[in-house]
Amino acid sequence: MRCRICDNQEGNVAYTAREMMLGLRQEFAYFRCAACGCLQIADFPAEMAAYYPPAYFRPERNDRLSAPAWAYTLFDVPAIMQQMRRAFPPGAAPPTHERLAEMLAAQVLRHYLPDWAQRKKAAILDVGCGRGGLIHALSRLGYTHVQGVDLYLDAPIRTANGVAVHKGTIHDMPPGWDLIMLHHAFEHMPDPQAVLQAAAQRLNPGGLCLIRIPIVPSLAWERYGVDWVQWDAPRHFFLHSVQSMALLAAQAGLRVEGHFCDATPFQFVGSELYRRDMALAEAGPQARFTPQEMAAFRAETTHANAAGRGDQAAFYLRRQ
Ligand SMILES: [Zn+2]
Repeated sequence: MRCRICDNQEGNVAYTAREMMLGLRQEFAYFRCAACGCLQIADFPAEMAAYYPPAYFRPERNDRLSAPAWAYTLFDVPAIMQQMRRAFPPGAAPPTHERLAEMLAAQVLRHYLPDWAQRKKAAILDVGCGRGGLIHALSRLGYTHVQGVDLYLDAPIRTANGVAVHKGTIHDMPPGWDLIMLHHAFEHMPDPQAVLQAAAQRLNPGGLCLIRIPIVPSLAWERYGVDWVQWDAPRHFFLHSVQSMALLAAQAGLRVEGHFCDATPFQFVGSELYRRDMALAEAGPQARFTPQEMAAFRAETTHANAAGRGDQAAFYLRRQ
């Protein structure tokens, strides 16, 4: 059990985690590095396609006031939808599905990329973008140079307004980007060093890499252990610590400008289900908790994030 990030072999701790998103309940060996804190899978499964069935990419629903699929990795979607429904009282015309996606994409910019709100000519690459819903919405907001790439697409996509979503990895993409972003994709990749090096090589001077990932340790990880929902065996190969991210960035010649925790109540909702041996695919998660329980999860999430103890974070890496 040699850490793939820092090479440490001393004192690493072994774990066994189950596949619980689809409910296969297959077991996978992991270990956590005693030196840099990175939790990682012991052996990469020979074949990953079975763990990314078509249903993994939620189908886009076109009914009004249902959130686009990509937003679920970004926000406390039920809370946002509730706010939006309140903003559109009965009798008022609700936003179209496309307009809703634009509103959520604008929220992504405000929350994660406030300096980029006016940089509509910037070259932006979304790595691990799924079907490209976020970049499609950014394009409709006026961003003229956005592209995406995802390894697990059936086939490349060109959206109605001309946004290209490629099938492949960052290694297949050309250089020349002002912003490369990975929203809950980096932890799925077997070669984090190579990915960060590729990002560094493909960024323009002064360019920014935004990486959003689950992290350890956190309140949810400590409370739920192998039932922690974002362990997500075997899809999550690496659950990084702040320290292992700093090491990786340094190895790639990128400077960590900062990070903040952006966990959502899903850290508790999903983990509670797994602890009860319920798979995500088997349950409508929100339906299983009372409004009081959800309010408690939300309050605890706010506190955990403020204390740097949320179960996911956004890292900002700058090319010099
Ligand atoms: Zn390590």
